[in-house]
Amino acid sequence: MNYQLSEEERMLRKTAADFANRSLAAVAEESNREGIFQDQIYRELGELGFMGMTVPEEYGGVDFGNFCLALAIEEISRVCASTAVAISVHNSLVNWAIMKFGSSQMKENYLPRLASGELLGAYALTEPGAGSDVSAISTSAVLEGDTYKLNGTKNFISTGDKAGVIIVFARTDSEDRKGGLSAFVVEPDSPGFSIGKKEDKMGLSASTTVELVFEDCEIPAANILGSEGQGMSIALGGLEGGRIGIAAQSLGIAQAAMDEAVKYGRERQQFGRRILDFQGNQFKIAEMATRLEAARLLVYQAARLRDRGEPCARESSMAKLYASEAANYLAYQALQIHGGVGYTSEFLIERLYRDARVLEIYEGASEIQKIVIFREVMKEYDRIMPD
Ligand SMILES: Cc1cc2nc3c(=O)[nH]c(=O)nc-3n(C[C@H](O)[C@H](O)[C@H](O)COP(=O)(O)OP(=O)(O)OC[C@H]3O[C@@H](n4cnc5c(N)ncnc54)[C@H](O)[C@@H]3O)c2cc1C
Repeated sequence: MNYQLSEEERMLRKTAADFANRSLAAVAEESNREGIFQDQIYRELGELGFMGMTVPEEYGGVDFGNFCLALAIEEISRVCASTAVAISVHNSLVNWAIMKFGSSQMKENYLPRLASGELLGAYALTEPGAGSDVSAISTSAVLEGDTYKLNGTKNFISTGDKAGVIIVFARTDSEDRKGGLSAFVVEPDSPGFSIGKKEDKMGLSASTTVELVFEDCEIPAANILGSEGQGMSIALGGLEGGRIGIAAQSLGIAQAAMDEAVKYGRERQQFGRRILDFQGNQFKIAEMATRLEAARLLVYQAARLRDRGEPCARESSMAKLYASEAANYLAYQALQIHGGVGYTSEFLIERLYRDARVLEIYEGASEIQKIVIFREVMKEYDRIMPD
């Protein structure tokens, strides 16, 4: 299919694919099997520009934008979805928030090191009592002189134990559920900060997912992003881009599942024929290819809109909802085409199947995407067809 990529976009995609097929492929299998986080890969990704995709050149980034970021995440996810999620969170949540809401001092201090891959970014929104419902956040931040004191626990934080910069959402007003949230930049050597439980996950095994504990954790007052009370809009604004990143991660897993299904289906013989000669399996491939292309078009459209600075809450949620479900469908059908061997760790499809499952859960579960889509669709109807 012709996606009308520019020369620059084609080159960027090729650079990401070459990196994935060379450096990442060399370590992906073992890292995912043994649960090894590959620290050094992020430096290499930084050198290639992939850690500062939306950061302006004056702060050390390449400023290629969200569409190119989606292309890169897709290619990297094809080989290692664990690496892809770290790149997505780092670029579309952390770099974005500092660029948009950070002071000039914060931008100068953090962005060049984030863009080079020297520092990795993490994003700490979720808490044991606040998952889909962000307004239930109970971690508190109290200003004492020129220091904020944070108290509370975040859980399920991707690369939270590896990050040099963590964006933490906390409550600065206990009365106002939605308007009482603020966002802060926290460095891991802050007094009162510690890493808690490390999750033992079903997939994404080369990515760490941890609990973060704040006990009278002291951070400079200047580390607030924007001002007090802006936390909810920072969280939701970031997720608009983050969901495009996870949708692109979904495309990578879906494409890899497709490739594995075709490869195996052409080799395996039963009843004296290749299993892809059976129409039942051909129909599976046709359905998989169609869902993959539909997902890709939604993801690319959402990323282009975000690059143009147009509202894209509806499109990014549609892209995330559809692409994550497509990736799970493709992984399921590709495993089915593999038969019994697909259920063993000998074949890549087993990892793809496990990695795909979380796509429908994090950065807003499918049900939450539907809430956003319904709300946006109704806004449109209220405009064109008032009640
Ligand atoms: C591997 C992994 C990495 C993660 N990384 C991060 C990270 O880096 N940073 C971070 O902040 N968080 C992270 N998360 C957390 C993730 O974003 C949350 O798990 C997700 O938002 C869902 O929250 P929950 O798990 O508390 O589920 P819940 O909110 O308890 O939801 C449980 C179920 O109920 C449904 N549900 C909830 N409310 C409604 C409703 N109103 N209508 C219909 N259905 C509803 C949900 O869709 C879901 O199916 C990560 C999670 C995982 C598993």
